[in-house]
Amino acid sequence: MKLILAVLGVLVVALTAVDFLVSQVTERTYRESLRAELVEKGQMLAASGGDVSSRRVRAIGEAAAARLTIVAADGRVVADSEADPLKMENHRQRPEVAQALAGQAGWVTRNSPTIGVDYLYVAVPFGRGDALRLAVPVSKIREHVDAVRGKVLWSALLGFIPSILLAALFSRHVSKRLAAIIEYAGKLAQGDFAARLQNPGHDELGVLGAKLNDTGAKLENMVRELDHEHAELEKLERIRKDFVINVSHELRTPLASIQGYTETLLDGAINDPLHNVKFLGIIRQNAERLTRLTADLLALSRVEQGRQKFQFGSYYVRHLIEENCDSMRPMAEKKNVAMMVDVADQKAEVFCDSEAVHQMLANLLDNALKYTPEGGSITVSGTSEGGMVRFSVRDTGVGIPADELPRLFERFYRVDKARSRELGGTGLGLAIVKHLAKSHGGEVGVDSEVNRGSTFWFTLPIEDNGKMAEEALPVQSTIS
Ligand code: ADP
Repeated sequence: MKLILAVLGVLVVALTAVDFLVSQVTERTYRESLRAELVEKGQMLAASGGDVSSRRVRAIGEAAAARLTIVAADGRVVADSEADPLKMENHRQRPEVAQALAGQAGWVTRNSPTIGVDYLYVAVPFGRGDALRLAVPVSKIREHVDAVRGKVLWSALLGFIPSILLAALFSRHVSKRLAAIIEYAGKLAQGDFAARLQNPGHDELGVLGAKLNDTGAKLENMVRELDHEHAELEKLERIRKDFVINVSHELRTPLASIQGYTETLLDGAINDPLHNVKFLGIIRQNAERLTRLTADLLALSRVEQGRQKFQFGSYYVRHLIEENCDSMRPMAEKKNVAMMVDVADQKAEVFCDSEAVHQMLANLLDNALKYTPEGGSITVSGTSEGGMVRFSVRDTGVGIPADELPRLFERFYRVDKARSRELGGTGLGLAIVKHLAKSHGGEVGVDSEVNRGSTFWFTLPIEDNGKMAEEALPVQSTIS
């Protein structure tokens, strides 16, 4: 509506200006051509001469479509085509007549006292010192101007109709698109960030629409990220709660046992030679378990929170593996489990913290020994592939059911809780391996088959890949 009103406003102003100009120009032009025409007619009539009887003057006036007046040299009106010359006053003072009597064509526009309307008077010299005057009413000029004005205004109006129609069509189109943009902004305001404005176009409204679409997409992304972060936080909170429950539970069992056996001993069992040593043994066992548990918890939290200070350097793979196997070999021999090392490339190197690798291998070897029955074997290998060294500990032990594998590296996750406890496990060994490997930029994994055995592996980079913060140490000089 506003647009159409604006167009109409412009039209009215334009038409008024056109009307004013047309009136001015037409009136001036017509007046001048009429005057020239009357001068010409007058001069022709004057030249043709003849008598100036009232009848003839009236006839000529009618033929010339003008009022014809003949004025004598003394100003007396001799004849007039529309009035009685006797009743007319002396015309010598009339400017146009005065000029004609002086021998020149003269003209003026003024009100006729005889007839009472505005006239254009043109007078030319006539005969011997007389004057011939032709006059037409000014209303004739006005009629002509009005006719021209009418035509111009009508044609201008006709010319403007298509522009009004166009303006109406355009404003409808614009308001439709604006309505769509407003509706879309409303959706955004209500939080519907998945909605999009279809085909926004390329003009200013299109750019506005596209910007709103961008805003919608950004908000949608932000909400998605916040949802994701929220879910992550909830997950972390769940893990934290589970962890606290697990830790309390793990601590409570040995503590309760220590407390119970201590009280039993204090209540008199200390003097019972049959049981006192056994009870003290159980107390020591539980104290050892508490020590292992707290040590593992501290190690895990140090690595998880990135507080563990690593001393990175390049080490020979074979050297690292053999050092670990050597320290475990007496236990393996005691259990009658064969322990083998399989490193094809003697010069293969790995970029790591040697203490961390010892801890990882020790945890995996400890598990392999725990879960491999007598007569079995353990093979530790190190192979280089794609910039990484893969350390594997393969055993011929009890194996793990496939559905347990995905959660195996979680803290306190155990396939057989009772058996793990019985074997002195804390349920944190694999979690420590996973975090240590990750802090080196590596990964962990397991393949296993029940009653056939398991292969636990972790990878470490061959060279410094920029992920480690500590300064690199030179390659150890000892070669195995
Ligand atoms: P734990 O102190 O109980 O050994 P870990 O985190 O080291 O804790 O291991 C988690 C669980 O994974 C163990 O309780 C055990 O059920 C299973 N597991 C680990 N290593 C082996 C293996 N070599 N053979 C069979 N099961 C294993």
